[in-house]
Amino acid sequence: MIKIECSERLKKLPPYLFVEIDRAKKKARDEGRDIIDLGIGDPDMPTPRFIIEAMKKALADPRNHRYPLDAGLPEFRQAISKWFKKRFEVDLDPASEILPLIGSKEGIAHMPLAVMNPGDISLVPDPCYPPYKSGTWFAGGEVALMPLVENNHFLPDLKAISHNILHKARIMYINYPNNPTGAVCDKRFLEHVVEFALKHNIVVLCDAAYSEMCYDGYKAPSIMEVKGGRDVAIEFHSLSKTFNMTGWRIGFACGNKHLVESLAKVKSNVDSGVFFAIQWAGVAAFENYDKHIRTTIKIYQERRDLLVDGLNKMGWNVVKPKATFYVWCKVPPRYTSATFAKALLEKCDIVVTPGNGFGASGEGYVRMALTVDKRRIREAVDRIGKRLG
Ligand SMILES: *Cc1c(COP(=O)(O)O)cnc(C)c1O
Repeated sequence: MIKIECSERLKKLPPYLFVEIDRAKKKARDEGRDIIDLGIGDPDMPTPRFIIEAMKKALADPRNHRYPLDAGLPEFRQAISKWFKKRFEVDLDPASEILPLIGSKEGIAHMPLAVMNPGDISLVPDPCYPPYKSGTWFAGGEVALMPLVENNHFLPDLKAISHNILHKARIMYINYPNNPTGAVCDKRFLEHVVEFALKHNIVVLCDAAYSEMCYDGYKAPSIMEVKGGRDVAIEFHSLSKTFNMTGWRIGFACGNKHLVESLAKVKSNVDSGVFFAIQWAGVAAFENYDKHIRTTIKIYQERRDLLVDGLNKMGWNVVKPKATFYVWCKVPPRYTSATFAKALLEKCDIVVTPGNGFGASGEGYVRMALTVDKRRIREAVDRIGKRLG
């Protein structure tokens, strides 16, 4: 037996974000307690029928059984291009500016391999979706954090980034609508980002996983709408949250053709693309986007209103997110993220995610996901009112 020791890059990774909460949740379930899980960002609703039917049909066709390779199904790239034009009024060339992904996480984590050299710095929001950091480390890069604080509407303060860091900064991750804070940005902010990136020669990686989950008439902009956006940015889109397809693994990257091409080059060395049948399901998804998204948004918006209004009626001060299915909730005085999450689990049998798990700037918050139905949300609010005092 040889001695197995994992690589320095793996040793560098922090412990998995949800280990402790997962353990506590499992224990509570094993004890037979009725847990309301607001912890996970995974839609509870099934993938729509029309998508499943498209997949079934594609499954029966032997042409779809072979290696898809990375360029992806032309019809899928066409469907994305058409949808993008309608949604953002941006023309993307299906051949050179769109790349299917095995879920957007895959592209988000692989992109640093395409553009970073050892010692380069990646500007990463804090709190954030964890692959921004791990993807950077795997590529030999260093992470510099950009704190997202309420005072600045959970937007990074670009002026606060020091010269020493800027000098070595190669990429910047931007994520709006934001996980975990639920914050949104306007087009002007994206214009600032593009201007900043042009000035300092930084590649912008926009994570748009929640771009379609918007409420109250708000519509998230794409950085591709901004003048110069296509010169500096690659944007990552996902079908996971929009179409309740987290398990299917499908998304796409789009934007600057050199960035798209370099990501494709990385991918051609590590995977062989998205199963064709799933890409056909993706075609059906985008072709039926309008009808599907309206009903989906209505459901999340009702849940959001029930939860936020319910908590605020008890004297809490929770902001109603304009997008995403997360409520970013400040913990009461004398609690930390961890002790409050623990109290909610122990006294109310409610699972939430402690904000500090997403980074130090998330301390003082918990994240509640709107991924249970209205009856359960009512029950959650009721329990908090009765048992937490
Ligand atoms: C869920 C999520 C993703 C990606 O999901 P995929 O299923 O890999 O497409 C990307 N970014 C954020 C911030 C997310 O929350």
